[in-house]
Amino acid sequence: MDLGIAGKRALVCASSKGLGRACAETLAAAGVDLVLNARGAEALEETAQMIRTAHGVSVDTVACDVTSVEGQAQVIAAAEGVDILVNNAGGPPPGLWSDWGREDFLKALDANMLTPIAMMTALLPGMIDKGWGRVVNITSQSVKAPIAILGLSNSARTGLTGYVAGTSRQVASHGVNINNLLPGSHATDRIDALDQSTAAREGISFDQARAARQSSIPAGRDGKPEEFGAACAFLCSQHAGFIVGQNILLDGGNVNATI
Ligand code: NAP
Repeated sequence: MDLGIAGKRALVCASSKGLGRACAETLAAAGVDLVLNARGAEALEETAQMIRTAHGVSVDTVACDVTSVEGQAQVIAAAEGVDILVNNAGGPPPGLWSDWGREDFLKALDANMLTPIAMMTALLPGMIDKGWGRVVNITSQSVKAPIAILGLSNSARTGLTGYVAGTSRQVASHGVNINNLLPGSHATDRIDALDQSTAAREGISFDQARAARQSSIPAGRDGKPEEFGAACAFLCSQHAGFIVGQNILLDGGNVNATI
């Protein structure tokens, strides 16, 4: 399927690895020029070079922490006028409700709610002026069904979801579509870290922690980053112009719900 977005330009935040990188690769395969971001400059530049070579699109990089005010300013300056915005950042650490105080919540809110809102606030006006834009926020299945050890993530991402529900309906008449993609377990460094943490907490091996987690997924496996990237690229495509403010689960059936 021709996604109809060749020649457009996208900012993909937190994209040297994992789900962000997969979104960037799929957009590049559709002919989209990119601005990529991550904190670590080396992995970021490696990813950028791989994408330039594989897809022949232009790729700019901004190595900074996108959750800091200074980092956001750098990324926004490099991405001015983009047609497509994919919001992403690292997820908060796991723990127990009694572990978390005000500072922990502020950090999580900054990373997983206020950062994507800041990026939208800065970049939506350019999309509205052009009469076309796409925003995809990478959130989590924890928005639909809480993951108890990820209380910081549950809280911050649900706040972003509420913001998107209203804002997406304010900008839709300008040809700008905002939607959220909700990953269940995907084979990335993040899920490796969570399985390590479960193994340490429960005194079991990494393989046991992984097998137990995967046994609850109806698809019987973790998602592949490229499957996630394809869904993201579709939401950024011409074909997604009537999809507004939705929360789309990619979880192998893990959230046990009819709707
Ligand atoms: P990942 O494999 O660990 O990759 C994270 C990427 O984001 C890396 O490129 C990392 O590079 C970059 N990054 C992290 N923090 C950043 C920051 N503050 N500023 C700029 N770049 C940053 O993670 P992932 O699995 O792709 O997860 C992406 C998001 O989806 C996370 O919020 C995660 O919690 C969420 N999620 C993932 C899963 C899953 O199963 N994988 C499930 C549900 C939700 P640097 O470290 O160099 O900055």
